Amino acid sequence: MIRVRYAPSPTGSLHLGSLRSVIFNWLFARHHHGKFLLRIEDTDLGRSRPEHTTAIYTALDWMGITWDEPVVIQSERTALYQQYLIKLLAEQKAYYCNCPVSADLATSTDYKIYDRICRNKNLTSGAIRFKLPADISTNNSASINFTDLVYGPISFDLNQLDDFIIARADGTPMYNFAVVIDDHEMAISHIIRGEEHLSNTPKQILLYQAFDFKLPEFAHLPLILGRDGRKLSKREAAVAVEDYRLKGYLADALFNYLVRLGWSHGDQEIFTKLELIEFFDLDHIGKSGSIFDLDKLTWVNTVYLKNYTAQQLLDLIIRDLDPVYLTKFKLFQATQILALIDLYKARVKVLTELAEIILALDQAPVSYDQAELVKWVTPDIADIINTNTKTQLAQLISNWEALANWSAPEILASIKQLCADYQIAMPQIAHPIRLALLGHTASPSIAELLAIFPKTEVIVRIQNIINYI
Ligand code: GLU
Repeated sequence: MIRVRYAPSPTGSLHLGSLRSVIFNWLFARHHHGKFLLRIEDTDLGRSRPEHTTAIYTALDWMGITWDEPVVIQSERTALYQQYLIKLLAEQKAYYCNCPVSADLATSTDYKIYDRICRNKNLTSGAIRFKLPADISTNNSASINFTDLVYGPISFDLNQLDDFIIARADGTPMYNFAVVIDDHEMAISHIIRGEEHLSNTPKQILLYQAFDFKLPEFAHLPLILGRDGRKLSKREAAVAVEDYRLKGYLADALFNYLVRLGWSHGDQEIFTKLELIEFFDLDHIGKSGSIFDLDKLTWVNTVYLKNYTAQQLLDLIIRDLDPVYLTKFKLFQATQILALIDLYKARVKVLTELAEIILALDQAPVSYDQAELVKWVTPDIADIINTNTKTQLAQLISNWEALANWSAPEILASIKQLCADYQIAMPQIAHPIRLALLGHTASPSIAELLAIFPKTEVIVRIQNIINYI
């Protein structure tokens, strides 16, 4: 039975790279009809924060990722770790150490080889160190070998290792210890995680061996890189998953993009989740780091935006952007908002842009694009407009007042009729209408747009621009 886990430390916001690890684990479990589990690694009490744990749940929920057994919380398992620590101490595979440096090392990343000074002191308190097995510590060429499912055969020179700390003096277990106990207790079959953990793997393998636990398979995922070739950082792009939600990226688009960042299935770029579950396996994960490309993510997002229904997008605007979104509208009802979403969804890059455009349409323009105004609505540009723009617009208003149906075909017919009557080209009247309605001239088909607005509102806005010039 395939059993995998995602084991985040809630010490900061959820990074894109972590989200990709979750997705790979989840797809691997679903593909093999296995189990995907969640474990919160919060033993570093100084750095773990409940709000980061909440952010992890929120991000997974946003992605539609579910786990199959109750969440394991490391800070609730102290007694379990204690049992295993006592076992190692009793078997003389670990020892207490009260060197001041041990307290520092437990929190420092500045790793120094420990001189084993406390190994034979038989202390009864302090930090606890793992005793490297004698056959390893005396053999100069000793190495630990394993086959990584992404990188292939890996060999670590054990001379680089020392008696590493497995529990702090306050009794809390260190990452390398807790992770092994938990992966064993949770019967994890495959450990799929970021490449940054590769250097921890030999220590963990030593612990598996010390406990005589069955070794899981390991698959380390190459990093997500910035354009500078280094691990993607804030300097290059937003790295927190939350930021992408707030910027208006769709969860399914981000999911799709992140899977392709390091995994491939021929040249296919766009996948449904079901296709991904069907196709995903570890053998098509590349060994080299993948460069994060915001333009490509944005392109994937536009594909999803186009394919979603207006109702799906409205639900997402309310859920992901602003729960009180609908209350902000003065003019439009839900049916009109849905029609506007349909009209605009293929013209925007992100959900926020869509929401903002529609919200802006709800209000009469407070100003007009001056250059466009000069070009299309003032008397000194084109002859026919010189003398007749106001008249044309005023005529249009009276034609519209008489229209039986306020529908796109009838509106279009009335505009065409006006063009014929005044012998003007379509933009000469369509642009002044756009300016009146929106304040600028960029819009989809004018008749379709007008039909969504209440007729009375359109007339008020045209009257406004007539009064303005
Ligand atoms: N807690 C570790 C982290 O957040 C991951 C541990 C693991 O996957 O083995 O980076």
